[in-house]
Amino acid sequence: MSVFEHINGDGYEQVVFCSDDHSGLRAIIAIHSTALGPALGGTRFYPYRSEEEALVDVLRLAKGVTYKAAAAGLDLGGGKAVIMGDPKRIKTEELLRAYGRFVETLSGRYITAEDVGTQLEDMDVVRRESRWVTGCSHTYGGSGDPSPVTAWGVMHGMKACCLEVFGDASLAGRTVALQGVGKVGHALCGYLVEQGANVTIADVDLDNLGRAVADYGVETTPLDTVHEMEADIFAPCALGGIVNDDTISKLRCKIIAGSANNQLARDEHGEKLRDLGILYAPDFVVNSGGLINVEDELRGYDRERAMKRVEGIYKQLQLIFTMAKERHLSTSAAAMEHAESRIRRISRLRLVRVAEFGPASA
Ligand code: NAD
Repeated sequence: MSVFEHINGDGYEQVVFCSDDHSGLRAIIAIHSTALGPALGGTRFYPYRSEEEALVDVLRLAKGVTYKAAAAGLDLGGGKAVIMGDPKRIKTEELLRAYGRFVETLSGRYITAEDVGTQLEDMDVVRRESRWVTGCSHTYGGSGDPSPVTAWGVMHGMKACCLEVFGDASLAGRTVALQGVGKVGHALCGYLVEQGANVTIADVDLDNLGRAVADYGVETTPLDTVHEMEADIFAPCALGGIVNDDTISKLRCKIIAGSANNQLARDEHGEKLRDLGILYAPDFVVNSGGLINVEDELRGYDRERAMKRVEGIYKQLQLIFTMAKERHLSTSAAAMEHAESRIRRISRLRLVRVAEFGPASA
């Protein structure tokens, strides 16, 4: 498939291919939309098997951020970048700085942050070449690791789900099956235990599993059946696609709310969850805490303010649940509608010219 065949039809504004022979940099920056503001999205550093695979991924991810930012009520568009290659082998200061120079050429149309394969320290290096970087370390006035803030948002999202399903927002005594206790899952586990929930965890990484058990005294369950546990809440905090043709009929939870991106293998799974009577907190709404957190950095980061803003996920979900009921939609379809409607309503305002009109110069 040609590059334009991938891009056309889905409203992508700009795709930039970046190459630097000396450092070995090969990157793609995709700007899906700047309708609501600059396109902010992380840089994924990953050993893609082909250029096409990298392109498909960056396009899908960039579009996802457009929806996430719009649903979260942010003045941001959607973008994402991928650097091709194994970060363990090819990530160098030179490569990251070369990448930073490309980011700078976009003059703020795209603002980057960390993602899979990149870390806080990498953003500090990219920042040496570009102003358009968020998620830097506290030393540079940045917001640090967004994961605990993402987890804070998921926990508040769970409360909104509990209110919807049980008529009581409290998490005390609720059973939670938590898949993945990495950066977000570990912090979430802590918040849930604090709230009095009964948490059971599963993770492929035995170190991460052991750390959560040691820190919070939670129970563990086998990896391949964590989604089948009878629980009030199933919280996917590992990989995408966990709700698929194979798993959906085995789910025995009442709510799905977790940080993982793209939890539904296909859009139709949203309808199916509704038919099964399982309340799904759309992933891009409930996990938007990380994005809200890095957006806060653009105003001069204030942790307390960021955490407060992230708590707004509770209200956003309530709005989506109401919309879903009124319009007979699945919650995932309602969340998409909600985001699209905001993009239409707010981007229209740009038609109102705010430039100063003066006498034409001779
Ligand atoms: P992470 O890599 O730190 O943690 C993921 C955890 O999942 C790891 O402990 C890993 O061992 C485990 N895991 C992988 N495969 C598994 C499997 N099959 N079964 C059980 N556990 C498995 O990543 P993270 O930053 O905690 O992010 C978790 C998810 O949330 C990802 O999908 C990420 O895209 C999404 N997310 C993260 C943030 C953030 O702020 N970090 C924000 C939004 C969305």
